[in-house]
Amino acid sequence: MRADEHAETGSGRLLVISGPSGCGKSTICQRLREDPRVEFSISATTRPMRAGEVDGRDYHFIDKARFQRHIEDGDFIEWAEVHGNLYGTLRRPIYAALESGRTYLVEIDVQGGASLKALELPVASVFLFIAPPSMEVLEARLVGRGTDTPEVIARRLEKAHEELLAQDKYDRVIVNRDLDEAVAAVRRFAGLDAPLTE
Ligand code: ADP
Ligand code: 5GP
Repeated sequence: MRADEHAETGSGRLLVISGPSGCGKSTICQRLREDPRVEFSISATTRPMRAGEVDGRDYHFIDKARFQRHIEDGDFIEWAEVHGNLYGTLRRPIYAALESGRTYLVEIDVQGGASLKALELPVASVFLFIAPPSMEVLEARLVGRGTDTPEVIARRLEKAHEELLAQDKYDRVIVNRDLDEAVAAVRRFAGLDAPLTE
């Protein structure tokens, strides 16, 4: 089902935001989180918590054994190893949110987004690919973010070349040049540009 059918059905929709590391996914999603119509998917991960992160808000930080049990119990709609850590999207909250008519926002790596799209879930959905204006800008943002070592940044840039090839698997590509404009484009494509009603 396409996102534009959502208005007629009045049901919730799945909003998937993807793109290479450093393209601005988290920054854009942070803005969308302020919208009460949006529920943010909290993934489970085995990655160690970074300074400033909160368990249950940014991720469910779990160990490998527990992650393995979730895989065995079929709790993930998708999971993947990204940059050496495991990440998974939990199945149950997606359907709960959609039933209540909310937009369920999933921020995910490029491969994960493509496999989620390939599942062809029977729900209204929109898959957005956030692209950097250029590789030079992407590198500058990864360096500027200050969270990764030069080796990790080099690996992420290498991977980004490959990931940019997957953009045509998505419904729309949004170039994140100016943040306000990128957020406005996401809102438009996600059907979140209508004013909030009481
Ligand atoms: P991702 O979640 O895709 O890895 P982030 O949201 O962490 O990317 O963004 C990477 C860095 O780029 C952050 O430091 C962020 O503040 C910055 N950034 C994001 N969007 C823009 C933009 N439009 N203009 C300038 N800097 C940006
Ligand atoms: P970070 O560790 O920087 O928060 O995220 C690393 C990468 O993992 C990002 O590209 C992020 O989008 C991706 N990621 C986060 N959660 C999930 C998930 O549930 N599934 C998949 N496949 N990737 C995820």
